[in-house]
Amino acid sequence: MANDVIRLTAAELAAELSAGSLSAVDAAQAHLDRIAAVDGGLQAFLHTDPEVSLAAARAIDERRAAGEALGELAGVPLAIKDVLVTTDMPATAGSRILEGYRSPYDATAVARSRAAGLVNIGKTNMDEFAMGSSTENSAYGPTRNPWAADRVPGGSGGGSAVAVAAFEAPLALGSDTGGSIRQPAALTGSVGAKPTYGGVSRYGAIALASSLDQIGPCARTVLDTALLHDAIAGHDHHDSTSLRHEWPSMAAAAREGAAGDALRGLRVGVVKQLMLDGVQQGVKERFEEALALLAAQGAEIVEIEAPHFEYAVAAYYLILPAEASSNLAKYDSVRFGLRVTPEGRATVEDVMSATREAGFGAEVKRRIILGTYALSAGYYDAYYGSAQKVRTLIQRDFAAAFAQVDVIASPTAPTTAWRIGSHGGDPIQDYLNDATTIPANLAGIPGLSLPIGTAAEDGLPVGLQLLAPAFEDARLYRAGAAVEGLITDRDGRPFWQQSPTLGSLSTEQEGAC
Ligand code: GLN
Repeated sequence: MANDVIRLTAAELAAELSAGSLSAVDAAQAHLDRIAAVDGGLQAFLHTDPEVSLAAARAIDERRAAGEALGELAGVPLAIKDVLVTTDMPATAGSRILEGYRSPYDATAVARSRAAGLVNIGKTNMDEFAMGSSTENSAYGPTRNPWAADRVPGGSGGGSAVAVAAFEAPLALGSDTGGSIRQPAALTGSVGAKPTYGGVSRYGAIALASSLDQIGPCARTVLDTALLHDAIAGHDHHDSTSLRHEWPSMAAAAREGAAGDALRGLRVGVVKQLMLDGVQQGVKERFEEALALLAAQGAEIVEIEAPHFEYAVAAYYLILPAEASSNLAKYDSVRFGLRVTPEGRATVEDVMSATREAGFGAEVKRRIILGTYALSAGYYDAYYGSAQKVRTLIQRDFAAAFAQVDVIASPTAPTTAWRIGSHGGDPIQDYLNDATTIPANLAGIPGLSLPIGTAAEDGLPVGLQLLAPAFEDARLYRAGAAVEGLITDRDGRPFWQQSPTLGSLSTEQEGAC
């Protein structure tokens, strides 16, 4: 029974919930059981609180029983990246410095998910303050990839991606500053979207780099991702960068894409500069195969140039640390979380510095130092100023590209999931894995990643990234759902149903993951 419930997509769960054939409490319980059974090995979750989740589910059931009109997703469980604050569970952003912190308010994306009737099933693991591409930078230990337990799930939102990929939750929220929703989606065979900058409120998202941060959805299917996107999008006066825009329904676009002829005549740009030398062979093969499938459906594949993309990683790793160093200045041992008091007579500065020394991990310290340096007098123009100019040039590259094509396609990440520990603490290797996702953040445009099969050499998932101009998120869901329908195995099963995790459910005891 429980296995049957966790197998359902969010759309299927929602249909059963509204038909009354399943209660929100049963849906929550099935996923909590699944978490209890497998999460010891995976570590996708940092906090769960069954009582809190079941009480929220019960409230939904009662409202439904009272005849209240509820949202389409009412009663569906939702995992929430620990970067978003909620009143009902702690928020640590994967850092020791926020250990035990509880927020007095809900992030807007969380508040909207609650208003839609979604049930918070737990907070997910992440690289500390969302700095990383593997979730190995979490102060609470790495999350493991359900496709191969010795592999990273990507990052920084590895926990949210694994929660959906391992059937611990049908939906999850993430944040994407340089790829943290899309890249883990690719490495775990799930779907993730970074909305247009300003499309979803950042209020209550623990800030990394405010000009790049964007909250977004992940799930196992394009339609589920779209449904969650619809639930959280829209203007919020608490976020000064929030857009006033009438967003079309992403779910309607996904349904259209799945049903119709969305790829016929679609101009798909392939950016030469995103097909980097370092792209793994099996990733390249799946990507080329996907392009051939698109072309066979009537899409027009157009090679385009984006000459400044090769500077994207360099520019990003100046802009991000600069903004992060200023955002993280607030962890001063007074207002939030941890306080370490050195022995003997200690000044405020001594306490602050002992706290920051103990509370921040190596990658966070590295970026604070980098950012402070890049912003310091005498270096500001050379580093931060130059990076901002590159950002403008990348925005122009996109504008020129979108004058020729409707969407841009690339591999979401240049490689599949690597072995935990194999980058040996060399941050540059992690940074380079972001080369394909970062340009979209620098330009503020939307991106979607969906699985397109597994690489021949390691059997691990490969993601396709689709990018569209700002405000055109719906175009991504329409095209993405159409592509998703083409990625089936010989038995016609969609990609997510080929997950080894799902195989283990039918053949073994629950919990053998
Ligand atoms: N991997 C990127 C970084 O380390 C992306 C982070 C993110 O999107 N939060 O900065």
